[in-house]
Amino acid sequence: MSGVWIISENRGQSMELLNIGRQLADKMGMRVAALLYQDREHVEDYINHGADEVMLLPPLSSEHPPESYIPVIIEEARKGEPDLILLPATPRGKNMAALLAARLNVGLVSSCTVIDFDKGSKTLVMERLAYGGAAVQKVICSTRPAMATIPPRTYDTAMPETGRQGHVRELPSPSPSAIKIIERKVKEREVKDISEARVVVCVGRGIEKEEDLAIARQLADVLGGAIGCTRPIAEEFHWLPEELCIGLSGVQVKPDLYLGVGVSGQVQHVTGIRNAKVVAAVNKDENAPIFKAADFGIIGDLYDVVPKLISELKK
Ligand SMILES: Cc1cc2nc3c(=O)[nH]c(=O)nc-3n(C[C@H](O)[C@H](O)[C@H](O)COP(=O)(O)OP(=O)(O)OC[C@H]3O[C@@H](n4cnc5c(N)ncnc54)[C@H](O)[C@@H]3O)c2cc1C
Repeated sequence: MSGVWIISENRGQSMELLNIGRQLADKMGMRVAALLYQDREHVEDYINHGADEVMLLPPLSSEHPPESYIPVIIEEARKGEPDLILLPATPRGKNMAALLAARLNVGLVSSCTVIDFDKGSKTLVMERLAYGGAAVQKVICSTRPAMATIPPRTYDTAMPETGRQGHVRELPSPSPSAIKIIERKVKEREVKDISEARVVVCVGRGIEKEEDLAIARQLADVLGGAIGCTRPIAEEFHWLPEELCIGLSGVQVKPDLYLGVGVSGQVQHVTGIRNAKVVAAVNKDENAPIFKAADFGIIGDLYDVVPKLISELKK
């Protein structure tokens, strides 16, 4: 079977990849197959959201890493000859993608923000950020299959269609892996996922000391939003956890409102707010680059402006 294959570990990832996978498969006149290795409960859901086939990988015992599936997937890919394999650009997805691409000896385009099929040249054209987010690179992947990883939330969830039919198939169990997991420790999450927040108040180095984060928190609270930060706040000062860092090396946010407070707006940061509906900023420097990305800007000292905003919003 040729077509687009999607390899993912949970429903959220699968639904986003099914959206772009289905669009591409329709343009290419092909089928979409979803390969699942953890989330086997939503098989019908995947078919309703665009999969023509669902391939189920048998559950692994707890001491086996998901990478044990690689030989089985390779075997299927050699038989099935997919045209394109998509994985999420999550730590695990990137790891799986690199292992698969190396074993299949094919090209892999990592962290694609756009994938399209050019009907004229019959090529897959992909876009990804380059030079720390300062440029967009257009890449043509000429191997078959072509492979790509896509950052979470690049595409919306696929829309369901009633009455879709699909085929479900169990794949063979992998052979015992040479790697055994001897211990698993869940990484403590200190904060909620800000990529889902409707309003994000983002603090930057304009905040002078850690205690002053309180005013940004108050502003986020009155707006019913979450707090985010620039990289220096998380990684240099360690005032907020790294999960809250927005940008190229942090998370991508998609809020209705992003409000940057004391944020300069360097390209690596702004990359993470491209999908915000409204961007607003408070900065005392009228030439701060954030104002170029902003729909609304207040030029002023945040220690003066933010308390006024809080009291007005409370009214
Ligand atoms: C490979 C790479 C990846 C990176 N990834 C990321 C990333 O993912 N996310 C990220 O954020 N950064 C990232 N960076 C860092 C990025 O380039 C910037 O250095 C960083 O975003 C700047 O953070 P900032 O705006 O908090 O600080 P600054 O650039 O120091 O800006 C502080 C701003 O606050 C304003 N200000 C100061 N005092 C006040 C006040 N009292 N009231 C109002 N305004 C005030 C200043 O005018 C200034 O504009 C990356 C850099 C590299 C090289």
